[in-house]
Amino acid sequence: MKPFRPYFLGLAGTGLVLCLLWQATSLLGVHRLDAVSLPLLVGLFVVQAFNVVQLLPFGPVVRESPTAGWRLALEGAPKWVKWLVPITGGYALCAFFLALPHAVGGALTDPHWIGLVLSSVFMPFYGAALAYTWAASTRDDAGGTWVCANGHQLDEPALHCPRCKADVHASLKQPGA
Ligand SMILES: [Zn+2]
Repeated sequence: MKPFRPYFLGLAGTGLVLCLLWQATSLLGVHRLDAVSLPLLVGLFVVQAFNVVQLLPFGPVVRESPTAGWRLALEGAPKWVKWLVPITGGYALCAFFLALPHAVGGALTDPHWIGLVLSSVFMPFYGAALAYTWAASTRDDAGGTWVCANGHQLDEPALHCPRCKADVHASLKQPGA
């Protein structure tokens, strides 16, 4: 898994940039990039499959508290990368609802709206894959451990330390530094 991470990071980043370009050109009414929809859809399944596997260890903490669990999974990512998750998600929702009145019989037929909606709906998937992979990679570089406020080390992510119940966060110090 880990050796492939840089490729997925690159794929997620490229996908996100393509979505943004596609969105921008669609907004301008230029439909040069409509052909990227199929490769973007395929890429989306690849990065999502990878993302789901890398997030498996977070299953228990997300079940315990969805908000705190996802936030824990993002620990290590730079702040602007963390923001990609709510921003791209919110943007996709807005585009979706704006496009609803333009759907005919439940389907979008106008290529202008198809481009706008697809590019914005793909964005959160690429944004999230990028953010979670970035976070996991930074944590691994730092030794891949979790530490509670009292300094107890854990190998698996948890919201509270099993020994002293203190909050647990990713250890982001370089090992040996
Ligand atoms: Zn502890």
